[in-house]
Amino acid sequence: MSIREYTCVVCPNGCSLRIEVKDGEKPEFIRVEGNICKRGETWARQEVENPMRTIASSVLVRGGVFPLASVRTDFPIPLQSIMPVMEEIRQTILDAPVQIGDLVIEGPANTDCRIIVTRSVQKKKTEKKLNENPGSIERELMKQK
Ligand code: SF4
Repeated sequence: MSIREYTCVVCPNGCSLRIEVKDGEKPEFIRVEGNICKRGETWARQEVENPMRTIASSVLVRGGVFPLASVRTDFPIPLQSIMPVMEEIRQTILDAPVQIGDLVIEGPANTDCRIIVTRSVQKKKTEKKLNENPGSIERELMKQK
């Protein structure tokens, strides 16, 4: 048996928790002290027996005004799934434009989550198009001011 000390992250109170754990290959929650509500106990049990995390990362964007679009999981995933999910994200390339909320990957690494875009990336205008239309560079620059 061991005692783990955590700060509950469920709400801004940030209660200091002392969690009694039965050690082993699969640690088991025994009891918690320091929580002032039931949600703290639920969180402590999950943190011991099946810790979950929401992850944020970036995906390469081809032909965009930025080379990367930020993405995140739409809900927490088990800790042991983070590396395989990050690997799938790393291997993904999107074509511009991408919009906030676009689905990037459904169920990466056999999880139930979805990877969604959290920053839009517009399509880059090609120089050829700008040069075909005299004065267009100046108009583009005026628009950006
Ligand atoms: S134990 Fe309850 S009150 Fe305390 S931080 Fe967790 S959720 Fe908030």
